[in-house]
Amino acid sequence: MSGVVAAPPLPRIGIHTSTAGHLVESLDRASKLGANCLQIFSFSPRMWGNSPRIAPADAARFRERRAEFGLMPLVIHANYLINLATPNPILRVRSVQAFRGEIIRALDLDAEYLVLHPGSRVGGPLEPALRAVADGLRQAARGLDLQRLRILLENTAGQGSVLGARFEELAAMMAMASDRSPGFPLGVCLDTAHLLAAGFEIRTAEGLDETLQAVERTVGLSSVHVVHVNDSKAPLGAHVDRHEHIGKGHIKTEAFARILTHPLLAGRAFVLETPIDKPGDDRRNVQALWMLAARDGLQVPPRAERGFTMFRGPRRNPASARAKARRGKTAHTRAAVRAQR
Ligand SMILES: [Zn+2]
Ligand SMILES: [Zn+2]
Repeated sequence: MSGVVAAPPLPRIGIHTSTAGHLVESLDRASKLGANCLQIFSFSPRMWGNSPRIAPADAARFRERRAEFGLMPLVIHANYLINLATPNPILRVRSVQAFRGEIIRALDLDAEYLVLHPGSRVGGPLEPALRAVADGLRQAARGLDLQRLRILLENTAGQGSVLGARFEELAAMMAMASDRSPGFPLGVCLDTAHLLAAGFEIRTAEGLDETLQAVERTVGLSSVHVVHVNDSKAPLGAHVDRHEHIGKGHIKTEAFARILTHPLLAGRAFVLETPIDKPGDDRRNVQALWMLAARDGLQVPPRAERGFTMFRGPRRNPASARAKARRGKTAHTRAAVRAQR
């Protein structure tokens, strides 16, 4: 054994990456952006569809290519329309089916994590909604061997009657699921923009410590596997979900430096979900995280390809994207109603 002290392992820094063209292209993109981990959607995130399987040859190519790039972990973000907390039975069935599709595709791609928003109780009572999520997760996974896949519940900004802005709710859903299915592999993804908007003062050293202590008292810090690193356009406690470039929102650079180097968050995957308003925003945000995570003796981070960006023209009007999602949902609901007759 040599007496040389090994350099500490590189932090895992990544970005939500486009799968446009082909799933496998997301890996090249993440690598060109200078990331060493990534998050993707495995299917259109705002459409119900028939939740397709990934062709075995495509899945194999994806797994091989990811190993070549050393992109680790792979985080899959579930479809935004899934609402396991809904009191509407039709939407509930659709949500469980869609989430089952998410799990199957995550297994096909050999993902480490599948991130899900707990959903909205749509004005209904809290306790049954928490129970509905816990049961929905178990139903969606019924009969599947989850292997090393872990499902992560993401904390939310707490807009409307959305669940998961309070750590107690996340902890309750996890406890309910593991009560009935011991060992069910659940965990937590913490989103910094959602934390601030939910009222957690993560901008100061004391506030961050208090927040992490609250995490420890509820879900437990060991449950946190992924951190979504986003600045927030919305101020503290606004209960609005609006992501901003690192350092350009209400959280600011200094607070991100504390988050990325906090000993209690060491070893987590830090994944950006920041906007891409102009060419290079994606690459610059990845670089910003590497700078903020830098410590003495750290290995050299991966290099980005000069000029590479996922920017594809001006951002789509979010209102039209929402309208499109609504149309998709309506068409589905009609089909589901017909199917039930
Ligand atoms: Zn999310
Ligand atoms: Zn997020």
